[in-house]
Amino acid sequence: MDFKLQISGIVHESIVDGPGLCYVIFVQGCPHHCPGCHNPQTHDFSGGRAADLKELLKEIRENPILTGVTFSGGEPFCQPEALCELGQEIKGMGKQLTVYTGYTYEQLMELGKERPAVLELLKLADLLVDGPYLEKERDLTLLYRGSTNQRMIDLKKTRECGRVSLYQEDYYQGL
Ligand code: SF4
Repeated sequence: MDFKLQISGIVHESIVDGPGLCYVIFVQGCPHHCPGCHNPQTHDFSGGRAADLKELLKEIRENPILTGVTFSGGEPFCQPEALCELGQEIKGMGKQLTVYTGYTYEQLMELGKERPAVLELLKLADLLVDGPYLEKERDLTLLYRGSTNQRMIDLKKTRECGRVSLYQEDYYQGL
């Protein structure tokens, strides 16, 4: 694998970071600094540790009950090249891929003009949870996200119809 990935940690099995049972990779480094962020230890771009991508993939392959993998943070779109490499392997295993970001989908489309891996990662992923965490819009009842401005975007549908399509939450609650 060609690219390096700096991570802050891993959660091997989670039901709160995306649909189904997910392996969660928390990347290190975030430029957004949302007040009230639950993962402030992930902000420093010089912190965390270098991940062994092959080891991560091995762990994912060895757990047959995982339904998906989630890239969280930190800001995943600050390291899109390495995450594309991982994402291609994960999709090859037939797992669902969820990506969190403090950018909006529209901002990512702009960023992708300068950094093609941003668009590539959006093409690989199934679900995008977008937007910064806003304390004034905090809502503990929301599924997989912390504030009401954050959207759960169905990327496959969005690609098909050419406009942002939101995830059908009811369908995935049964997974
Ligand atoms: S984007 Fe996420 S990790 Fe970054 S500051 Fe906001 S809530 Fe925290």
